[in-house]
Amino acid sequence: MRQDGSHRLYARAQALMPGGVNSPVRAFRAVGGIPPFLVCGEGAYVEDVDGNRYVDYVGSWGALICGHAHPEVVRAAVEAVESGSSFGACTPYEVAFAEVLCEAVPSLEMVRLVCSGTEAVMSALRVARAATGRDRIVKFDGGYHGHADALLVRAGSGVATLELPDSPGVPAAAVQHTLSLPYNDVQAVEEVFARFGPEIAAVVVEPVAGNMGVVPAERAFLEVLRDLTAAYGALLVFDEVITGFRVGWGGAQAVFGIRPDLTSLGKVIGGGFPLAAYGGRRDVMSLVAPEGPVYQAGTLSGNPVAVRAGLATLERLRQPGAYEHLERTSAQLEEGLLDAARTAGVSVQVNRVGSMLTLFFSEIPVRDYESARRSDVVRYAQFFWEMLRRGVYLPPSQFEAMFVSLAHGPEEIRHTVEAAYEALRKLR
Ligand SMILES: *Cc1c(COP(=O)(O)O)cnc(C)c1O
Repeated sequence: MRQDGSHRLYARAQALMPGGVNSPVRAFRAVGGIPPFLVCGEGAYVEDVDGNRYVDYVGSWGALICGHAHPEVVRAAVEAVESGSSFGACTPYEVAFAEVLCEAVPSLEMVRLVCSGTEAVMSALRVARAATGRDRIVKFDGGYHGHADALLVRAGSGVATLELPDSPGVPAAAVQHTLSLPYNDVQAVEEVFARFGPEIAAVVVEPVAGNMGVVPAERAFLEVLRDLTAAYGALLVFDEVITGFRVGWGGAQAVFGIRPDLTSLGKVIGGGFPLAAYGGRRDVMSLVAPEGPVYQAGTLSGNPVAVRAGLATLERLRQPGAYEHLERTSAQLEEGLLDAARTAGVSVQVNRVGSMLTLFFSEIPVRDYESARRSDVVRYAQFFWEMLRRGVYLPPSQFEAMFVSLAHGPEEIRHTVEAAYEALRKLR
């Protein structure tokens, strides 16, 4: 596999940007080596500057559920750009988009558009604190909710990948009200509510964790979160930045049938553009300025290019059979990976919910951050490179999800499973 072009770019990049990147996991620290510099994407494939082509399971970290450069999404974005890329004013598209979101996501009565998942969760928690008049926030170990100060406590994603301690530069005061508990641990939640219940503003949770690798929430866990927050007057915030429109139309809350008070969305809803949202109960969202006193604003919020690409993405997902297709393809991939591992004699666990999955190099089931961390990350790194050399681009960390798109089909799955079989055999 040639990497001359990527090598040269990486050298230039490292002199100019911290770690040569604009987001930490892209630097490949967890798997070693040089990241391919990508120049184009088409359907399920990406291509790098050296002309290598890969079946892509990163999909811009789950945003590209229709695949790369989907014709309808491209058309929507191009038409939008040609009519003026930003106004910083009201547009008809944001109204249509808010209508689709509120119609699809069961708990959304009102919504506010922002530009990143970080902003969405940060703003949702500000509103939750204002609504309850309380400060404490409960999150879960290995949960990632963006890089806002208050949430960088035992965080997943890049923080987990790089084995960073909680970030320097975050004042102690910013995290003093944040409690982090083990995921799927009902007892820990009960204990914290017994002790701090009347002080808790919100519990923020990924209803399917995607940032410690994929770890589904147990139904009983989510039900206890719903019951205890309601009993103590705290708000339940589902961080659906990954799961929203990924695990099903309307997100994980529609799939599980559990109604949070507030929800954050991102990734899929922007169709590959910077777009995210938060919303929920009308009485709570009415606190947001200018209707209420909670300040939150954005120069590019509701950007028409992003919104129209997002609308085109959601229209595609609304077509009959979209989620069935994703489920079928992803189930084939899961079975193929398990079969390849069995044949190669390598112990793995595959956690999958719909089109998001993780292959953990672990002998024990993975149900929280602690068990995820017991995976063999050295093996993952070897596997990652064996796969890349065989034209399969996996997330460059054991603690990130693989994403299947609508553009992935039997041919891509067959290629991936064959590559996995060869790659896994090399690990023995
Ligand atoms: C990606 C992610 C975020 C942060 O979104 P950005 O757009 O990267 O700021 C927040 N929460 C979850 C669950 C995510 O996966």
